Amino acid sequence: MQAAGTLACATRGTDGAPRVRFLSGLHFELDAVYLLASRGMPFARQLMRDNRIQLLAEARPGVSIRLTGRAVPVPEEEQVRWRLVIFDERPQYRELYPALKYDDSLVFAVRDGFFEWLDLVSDPILRVYVPFGKGEVQTSGYKISDRCARCGTCTASCPQRCIVPGDPFRIVQEHCLQCGACAETCPRGAISAV
Ligand code: SF4
Ligand code: SF4
Repeated sequence: MQAAGTLACATRGTDGAPRVRFLSGLHFELDAVYLLASRGMPFARQLMRDNRIQLLAEARPGVSIRLTGRAVPVPEEEQVRWRLVIFDERPQYRELYPALKYDDSLVFAVRDGFFEWLDLVSDPILRVYVPFGKGEVQTSGYKISDRCARCGTCTASCPQRCIVPGDPFRIVQEHCLQCGACAETCPRGAISAV
């Protein structure tokens, strides 16, 4: 993610609708990602209102890394330190905002959340979640309930061949495309979205 340099960054607007932009005012530490914003920017105001954030990078074609977490302003006494770190790593910001004073900018830190690595090129696809800080992984996808009659219909419909026999049958989530084809074919209604 750090190597990508510029990341897509999604927040929620004040109207609740999604807002996405490219972001390069970033600094990575082992325990946090630091983001630079101008205090007056909608981006900063959105995070002050709702600190949920997602960052998305393309590691290589077909392979993405997504960070889901919460962005919190760093303590006031640490603001200058992190601004200087980001300004030194991204000198273009000094040119982009030549009149920007340190007090005009605001540094947020994302310390708690989780990463999702999604490789759509491998066969089968690979999806891996990794929590960091106090973050908890929030997964989506499909699950099979005890209503399963072990008929095997779903296995034939799965493009990733990631449903394995058992009682009940089980989806190997690491290889699941989350396409929903299995749920549409199950005669028992045993597969549902989570
Ligand atoms: S199609 Fe439904 S009932 Fe049949 S094995 Fe799959 S989950 Fe179980
Ligand atoms: S959601 Fe798609 S990829 Fe995942 S188990 Fe069902 S059919 Fe397979």
